[in-house]
Order: sequence, then structure tokens, then C-alpha cells
Amino acid sequence: MRTSYHNHSKWSDGIASIEQMALAAKNAKLDEFGISDHYIEAPFDNSEIAEWCLDVNRVDEYVEDALDVKKRLETDTFKVKIGLEVDFFQENADEVAKKLKKYPFDYLIGAVHFSGTFPIDLSAESWKPLEQEKIDEIWRIYWKKIRLAAASGHYSFIAHLDLPKKFLFLPEYDYSDDAFRALRAAKKADVAIEINTAGWAKPCKSPYPAANILAYACEIGVPALVSADAHEPEHVDRFYDEAEERLRQAGYRKTACVFDKFVRTIP
Ligand SMILES: [Zn+2]
Ligand SMILES: [Zn+2]
Repeated sequence: MRTSYHNHSKWSDGIASIEQMALAAKNAKLDEFGISDHYIEAPFDNSEIAEWCLDVNRVDEYVEDALDVKKRLETDTFKVKIGLEVDFFQENADEVAKKLKKYPFDYLIGAVHFSGTFPIDLSAESWKPLEQEKIDEIWRIYWKKIRLAAASGHYSFIAHLDLPKKFLFLPEYDYSDDAFRALRAAKKADVAIEINTAGWAKPCKSPYPAANILAYACEIGVPALVSADAHEPEHVDRFYDEAEERLRQAGYRKTACVFDKFVRTIP
């Protein structure tokens, strides 16, 4: 079984409509497609966020669009699911989760794109002027946020663990323990993780997260699924063969999860 739940459309920073993305998944013979545009309510001023994120006042329209695509494209062998990739901020996570409860989502992805106010994955340029000490601090804050996001229980799965490696500004300390601690929180809160294949096409040239983190996740029983984090139709199942192989190497026997109105099953 193959699902692709982490995908973006024009509602946030993707280049295609939800329908075009779903059609690509259907043509690629995936069993399930899910749309998960960016939803960000940052507790600080950042005017750039609006440029790549769903307008928080237009969630109704986004859901309507997705429901319409679902109605038109679903068959017995192809399902369309509705989600969001929600940025976690400790300051307002409960409030945001409560607000999103009124929509008919199948799943929510918990993500961390900001360490404090620092945009982790926006550009290499933002990392370049930083001293090593600052880089280490960004990583530590990142992992703490991931751990709190997992522990909150608000999300179906946590996105792209170890995302700060994207531009290869790595910490001097070994972050495995931070990652393992976050995974134990995920296990306790019964939250899954993804192997996000987009990293293969980024300067880090490897999926998120690294192999040792996946192996630990498998060892302690955190479910995992393959995600493409596609921003264009051609990418809905990009590097899926490689990612499934990675999961198997990490010890996983199942490489997909299914989410239906927040109920997770492992097919
Ligand atoms: Zn993301
Ligand atoms: Zn994404």
C-alpha cells in the first residue's frame, strides 16, 4: 500500500491546484492522496509567512476545495484525505488545535520551521552569518520544539525530523540524544513520524530523518510513513522506492499509515 499525505498546493507554497496534485497521485497508482498545506499562526511578527502559507482566514474555502476534489476523484481504490501541515508554537498550540477541530480533517501534521523566530529551511543565506554557537542553539531549540509538538498529542504525525540539516549547517554536538528524547515523547503520545523524501533533492542530499533516528524510532515502536512533501504534481511519490527501502533497513515491516478522521491504521 502506498499513501502520500504530505503535499502542498497553491493554497500555500505549491505550484498546482489540489485537484492537479490528487490527479497526479491517482495516475501514479497511489492508494491514497492527502493534501496538507501550510498553516502557521506565529506568535511573532513575520510578514514573509503570508507569502508561503495558507491564509488563516480561508481555511473554510481550502476545506471546501479539498472536499470537492474528494467527491470527484475518489473511487474504491483511490482515497483523498484532508489535512494541514501545522507549525507548532508552544505559545498557542492548544488554541490553534482547538480552532482546527471544527473542520473535517483526517489528519494534522505537526511541523517546526522556526527555531525561535529563525526560519530554519528558508535559505542557506540566513544560516551563513551565524557563529557555530548560534547554530548549536538553533538545533537545540528545534529539538525541544519537536519534542513538545510530539508530546502535545495534537498531530497525527511529525514532519521532517532533523530538517535543520537541509543546508548542512550542522551542530557541533551530537543531536541523536535530543532526537531520541523527542521520539520517546512521540511514542508516549502515540504519534507517528514520516520519512520525508524531499531532503534527497536538497543540499543535504538525504531524507529526513537520518538512518539512526529512524532505527531508534522503529526500536521503540513509533509508526512511520513515507511522505514526499510534494510542491508539484510530479513529486507526489518521488523517491518512494528508496524511502521504503530505508524504512525496511531501519527495521520497519510496514511503510505506510492510513489516517481517517484522525484514526490511524497500519495497513
Ligand atoms: Zn514542512
Ligand atoms: Zn511540507
